[in-house]
Amino acid sequence: MGVTVQRPVTTRRVSGLNVSMRGAVLPGDSSVVVREFPVPRPAAHQVLVRVKAAAVTDGDVHTAYRQHVEDGLGRYSGVICGRETSGVVQAVGARVESLAPGDRVAVYPVAGCGECPDCSRGYPTGCTGSTRIAYGRSRNGGMAEYLLAEEGSCILLPEPLSHVDGALLSCTFSTAWEALLRLQIDQEDRLLVVGADAVAMATMMLARSLGVTSVSLFDENPASRKRALERGLTDFAAAGPNPDGEGGWTAVVECSGDPEGRVTALRSAARWGRVAFVGEGSSMLFEPAQDLIRRQLTLHGVYGARIDDVRGLAAHLAERSLHPSEAATHCFSFADVETAYRTADECGSSGCKVIVVFDQP
Ligand SMILES: [Zn+2]
Repeated sequence: MGVTVQRPVTTRRVSGLNVSMRGAVLPGDSSVVVREFPVPRPAAHQVLVRVKAAAVTDGDVHTAYRQHVEDGLGRYSGVICGRETSGVVQAVGARVESLAPGDRVAVYPVAGCGECPDCSRGYPTGCTGSTRIAYGRSRNGGMAEYLLAEEGSCILLPEPLSHVDGALLSCTFSTAWEALLRLQIDQEDRLLVVGADAVAMATMMLARSLGVTSVSLFDENPASRKRALERGLTDFAAAGPNPDGEGGWTAVVECSGDPEGRVTALRSAARWGRVAFVGEGSSMLFEPAQDLIRRQLTLHGVYGARIDDVRGLAAHLAERSLHPSEAATHCFSFADVETAYRTADECGSSGCKVIVVFDQP
């Protein structure tokens, strides 16, 4: 493991303009390689973003850092990694109308074809078109000094949100927001979150911001439960359900991606309750009649958010001075990008969220 740098990698400048940049790629053997790349030039509908913050995602760790694994989204293709990015627009293409140099933006992790059923609904994450772009997977991502982004992928970052807020807004918080929207969460709901990863933390934080007073957490990790309680994100935290205890949560968000966690999510829901599955991976075994059908549950699969809703989320956070960066547990400079990935890998499912910041001017 470790950063492999074949020769000193620096950022070259000619006449005050950067012509080369450093970017991180993942060979698939639990290492990180920093290489020099040319600074891209934006085409007509593209912008060049000077990256200020990028987050390490679980997907990066599981399907690119440890090994290159196909997960239905297309295999990591050896490009610059990084799927959650925020930065400042440096240059714009000839036909860009909505952005200008100096704008602060978060970059949505996928640019869709714009025509397929998912794109038509506003969900580029699930785009099935041949022109789908996934930053950090099929196209160079944000773990670099610059990112070439499609204009439509950019979400203006209002004050007082920081770039770390922006990086977490684009995927982690937008997924949590989508889950709550899909559940049509209400202040009267009794919300249960299963699992305590970064999306779970985001779910609890956003639920609180919407006025939900009853928020419970099931997670086996005592440190994660303690953190959620100390931050006031939940008023009840336990490893799991108590057979003799109270059940009947009207809304449940399942983030663990664990077979038992999913069954717990269904069985903890009240009759006519709504459940959202967010955590991916693994499988589950349940009794459809007893666990779902006869209890009249509604079960949602949530994969990414409507990009317009993410813009609404940015405004929601800014109005309330809420900062997604509170969900970050570790922060490294780009010089320590290898340590950043190793830390995220070692944390496993214990709720870590690792950020890489770029201190370039
Ligand atoms: Zn599409």
